[in-house]
Amino acid sequence: MKVTEHIDKASGPLFSFEIVPPPRGKTIKAATDVVEQLLPHNPAWIDVTAHPAGAYYNENPDGSVERKVYKKRPGTIGICGVIQNRFKIDTVTHLLTQGFTKEETEDALIELNYLGIHNVLALRGDNLNYNKKYAKDRSRNFYASDLVKQINLLRKGEYLDDINNSLPLDFCMGVAGYPEKHFEAPNLKTDIHYLKEKVDAGADYIVTQMFFNNQAYFDFVDSCRAAGITCPIVPGLKVIKNTKQLTTVPRHFYVDFPDEFVSQMLEDPDHAEEIGINWAKKQTEELMAANVPSIHFYVMNDAKSVSQVVKKFF
Ligand code: FAD
Repeated sequence: MKVTEHIDKASGPLFSFEIVPPPRGKTIKAATDVVEQLLPHNPAWIDVTAHPAGAYYNENPDGSVERKVYKKRPGTIGICGVIQNRFKIDTVTHLLTQGFTKEETEDALIELNYLGIHNVLALRGDNLNYNKKYAKDRSRNFYASDLVKQINLLRKGEYLDDINNSLPLDFCMGVAGYPEKHFEAPNLKTDIHYLKEKVDAGADYIVTQMFFNNQAYFDFVDSCRAAGITCPIVPGLKVIKNTKQLTTVPRHFYVDFPDEFVSQMLEDPDHAEEIGINWAKKQTEELMAANVPSIHFYVMNDAKSVSQVVKKFF
């Protein structure tokens, strides 16, 4: 079922979860174990993140530096296929413009269609120090809105090359939104202008970046509505487990922690996990009371603390 159908048909709390593929060289069990831990919480759908190739530098014992280009976490489509077909849970495959040609994207969408996967999250991704060279006869998307446009054409059966009697590929499409603005955007208004461009190009719903102050989400939704965005805006939450994350999370995701949360964590670091779980529970309760369409949890590879947050709702 499509994400928008889940949202339309929901009669109770709707929770979705986001996981990461295992690092290269590990088994798929790392991902399926996380899925198994989430099963009691009735996942409406599970997102699997995508990862572009990055350039990594190793220093050899002789002091020389070796540059290697590889994907740290390959396997997004394979894991989605397993979740969808073994666990019978709908999956949302993340697709990136960064590091992929339009031709590779079209092939990935054909593969997803064969696997019975009909949900994708269209994203730009970030450049991991590797500027992939594109052959002259290959084309690429740059912004997420370009990818949305390509997927929208495939929904009408329009492939990159003219194909006689080509079949449409039926995808529900989400895009990312940023209550505290995307880090490259000059201001929130401009960011929402480009968010609307993604929705106007065919996106069916928005999932937000994590936030720790619900007011940021409520204000963001108001601003989106004022800008003419009418689709569902799914709030994204992350459970914080230790005081180290008070610096790593803002560095990676460009989000703020509220003063009250920071004080609680710093005053009692030995109970950081409990404080983080209680904070997320409070956020969840307040969002549910505000009738949000559903709540999306950034689980990544550790379902334990998210389970503590959502179990009370079942
Ligand atoms: P875009 O929508 O393309 O926006 C990027 C920036 O460009 C913004 O500042 C926007 O305001 C600006 N912009 C957009 N259009 C234009 C235009 N036409 N002209 C000028 N400026 C423009 N990353 C991954 O690598 N893998 C994942 O699986 C992944 N999953 C994510 C899931 C969610 C829910 C979220 C919120 C983020 C995720 N990310 C993921 C991170 C995301 O890829 C980065 O935040 C990336 O920097 C921006 O992606 P985007 O799709 O929001 O980009």
